[in-house]
Formats: sequence, structure tokens, C-alpha cells
Amino acid sequence: MMNVAVIGTGYVGLVTGVVLSEIGHTVTCIDIDEKKVEIMQKGKSPIYEPGLEDLLVKNISKNRLAFTTNHKKAFEKSEIIFIAVGTPQSESGAADLKYIKQAAKDIAQYITNDTVVVVKSTVPVGTNDLVENIIKQELKLDVKVEVVSNPEFLREGHAIHDTFHGDRIVIGSDKEKPGDKIEALFTPLKLPIVRTNRRSAEMIKYAANAFLAVKISYINQIANLCEKLDADVNAVAEGIGMDSRIGRAFLNAGLGYGGSCFPKDTEALAFLAKEYNTSLNIVDAAIQANSNQSEIFTQKIIDRFKGNVQGKSFAILGLAFKPNTDDLREAPALKIIEKLLSLGAKVKVYDPIVQHLNEYQAGVLEHCQSIQECMDNVDATLLVTEWDEFIENDWKELRKYPNQPLLFDGRNILPTDKLVKLGWQVEGIGQAQKR
Ligand code: NAD
Repeated sequence: MMNVAVIGTGYVGLVTGVVLSEIGHTVTCIDIDEKKVEIMQKGKSPIYEPGLEDLLVKNISKNRLAFTTNHKKAFEKSEIIFIAVGTPQSESGAADLKYIKQAAKDIAQYITNDTVVVVKSTVPVGTNDLVENIIKQELKLDVKVEVVSNPEFLREGHAIHDTFHGDRIVIGSDKEKPGDKIEALFTPLKLPIVRTNRRSAEMIKYAANAFLAVKISYINQIANLCEKLDADVNAVAEGIGMDSRIGRAFLNAGLGYGGSCFPKDTEALAFLAKEYNTSLNIVDAAIQANSNQSEIFTQKIIDRFKGNVQGKSFAILGLAFKPNTDDLREAPALKIIEKLLSLGAKVKVYDPIVQHLNEYQAGVLEHCQSIQECMDNVDATLLVTEWDEFIENDWKELRKYPNQPLLFDGRNILPTDKLVKLGWQVEGIGQAQKR
């Protein structure tokens, strides 16, 4: 078993640290956010992620997991240090590497023994080289440092499950030994391992995310055409998804992708292609299609009110960019809310987990505590995030709350025919309007 440090305790860093401790390693997680560290030291998870808190508590009590803001202390015994800090989008579209560079400097300043540094953050091709150069230039002691790429593929909302049952672990190392060490670290997970060099590993992550983004945008555009032609995109997705060369996953038409990864990673890859003068316009098109998708949905609602939603009230069901997470980054709900508010509509929102929308001043929109409160007296209901609570609700009972039985299903997730029988008028994505 090994001594590991993890820099950054966001969705990726915290889950990585917790799972590595669960399989027997001794892990210290470091974050610069003191509040966050305090919460974790008390055995609480600062993020909503199913199963995470139980494992956190368990491994703290077994003395295999600790949290600190002190890099020096965290690195003292570590033979492996993961970098799992954020790589947000910069104004140009490129990935902003300021947190990565700072983490590299922190490592150079505080390590006291030979170390394998593992870059888990999603980073542009060549960043592992950059990390290695920064560390080598700024090292304080005469110790050996190797840098290995190990991109992360977990999905928020399923992060613990995905880390234990992932499709593969990618290890990119230009030298054999450090790659072997990281492979050994993950051995207890018994997952398929892909060994390659660092640049290919970095590219695997971007190419995978961009491929999924393209697949989503493709089915969304097919859905928009289905709507015009009176075809049903759900049937189309079923029919094409049964082709094993295509696969059914990521063919659910909806409001487009959001979250902290696909939007910024597609932009970063597109930027990289432009920088190297190589056409990647398939990704550019996916980005554009995705940006249009929630606008098309909002326009459909506005059209339904003959172009005027002033004074009309809307229930927004779901805020998070997808179910089982509290992550609001690039959530389609935010764009829809913004547009409706700008047109003078009244907006009520409810999400089972997200209880605060810091973007808005109190009073601008009404944050409700239940689906019933949210739908009370509204002119239309918009399902934006496919939480189970919405799917499994008693839509017969809910029928008595809104002024009008108008329902826009932005995720094609509700049993439309059943709802129509209950008196609802349902409009989904890529299918004929049902009333
Ligand atoms: P996040 O923003 O949730 O968390 C990053 C954390 O790093 C923050 O808590 C921040 O305080 C901390 N931090 C920043 N600089 C630090 C420093 N010098 N020392 C210690 N802590 C520091 O990020 P995330 O969502 O976990 O993503 C991390 C990386 O993983 C990104 O590159 C992202 O693209 C990638 N990724 C994310 C997901 C996902 O689903 N969120 C999935 C796969 C890959």
C-alpha cells in the first residue's frame, strides 16, 4: 500500500482520494479552500455525490484519509501526488492552467522525497511536459520527480460507482517505471488499463469528451428535424442505437449538454486545433448546436404564448445540469431562466438538491421547497433536469396545482401518453405535440 497526496478536493480530487483510501492506500487531500477542508475534517462532504460521505467517514476513522490546507504536511510522506485542480475555460476558449501551474510550484517547493506526480485534471496536450518543467526548474531539494498523465472519466452523480467500475484507466507515461507504479496503485480496482505516452493520454480525454458532445448535438439536431417532420426522436434513437456500431448511450435528445466538462473541454480542444491550424469543425459545429438547443426550447415556450410571456409564470423543475448532482456550472436551466426573466415572466424554481441560486438577488425569482409549491398557480411547467423525483411523481395529483396543464418536457423523460390521458398537454423534444 502506498502514501498518496491529492491536490484539489473537487468532484475529481475528493472522489479519487476517498476511493484510493478505500482500497487501502494512505491518502492526504489538500485544498486551499479552508472552509472546505474544515467541513471534510468533520466527516462531511462539501459536494453532493451519492455514496461519497459514507466512504469518507469510514476511511477517516480507519486513519487512511486526512485533509489539510498545508502542502508541506501533506507531501511529507507521499510517494505519489495527484494534481486534481480545476482547469476552467479562459476568455480565449483555451484551458486556463493557472491552478495547474500553482500546484506544480507547490510540489517543487514542498516535496522532500522522490515523487511520481500524476496529472488527473483534464489538460491540453503538452501540459504534462509543462508541469515537469516547472517542477524541475523550481525544485528546492535534490529529489527525483516523474510526471504521469492519468485523465479522469467519472460522471458527476455516479462518481463513486464510476471510479470502482470504470471502463478503463488510462496511464500515460513516457517512462516505464513511473507508469508501472501508478498501475500498481490502481491494481485493487481490477479495471482494464490502457498504457500509452503522456501526450496520447492527454488527447484521449479530450477526444472522448468531444466525441460524446458531438453525439449529443447530433441527436439534438435530428430531434429538431423530427419535430418539423412529425417523426419521433425517441423511436429514432431506439432504432439507430440498436446498431452496435452506434450504441444507444448519449442519444437522448434534450436541452443540450452542460456541466463543468463538456462545454469547456470542447472549447479547449477546438482552440488547440485552431492553434495548430488543423480543422476540427465537427467539434465547432457541436458547440454551436449545443448553444442553440436550449434557445430553441425557450423559443418554443415563447411561441406557445404567442410571443408574449410578460407576466406569465413558469415552474422550472430542476436546476442542476443533470440529476444526482448539485453542480450548476453551464446548466441549461440558467439560460432558460435568464431568458424568461428578461422577457418579464415570473419564474419559480425547484430542485431536490440545489437550494440556492447565488446568481439572482432574492425576490427576482422564487425558490420553492417542493414540486407542488413550484407548480402552484403557474401558466406552464418546464421539466429541465430529469431527477427521479419528477419522473416518479404523481402527475394526476400534480395536475391540480398549475393554472394550465401545459407541460414542456425538456428531457423527453415523462410518460407522455399517460400524462395526456390525465389531462396534461405535453410538449417534448423532437416529437409531435400531444394534447
Ligand atoms: P473543482 O473546481 O470542483 O475542484 C478543484 C479544487 O481544487 C477546488 O476545491 C480548489 O479549491 C482546489 N485547488 C485549486 N488550486 C489548488 C492548489 N494550488 N492547492 C490545493 N487545492 C487547490 O474541479 P473538478 O470538477 O473536481 O475538476 C478537476 C479537474 O478534473 C478539471 O480539470 C476537470 O476538467 C477534470 N474532470 C472533472 C470531472 C467532473 O465531472 N467534475 C470529470 C472528469 C475530469
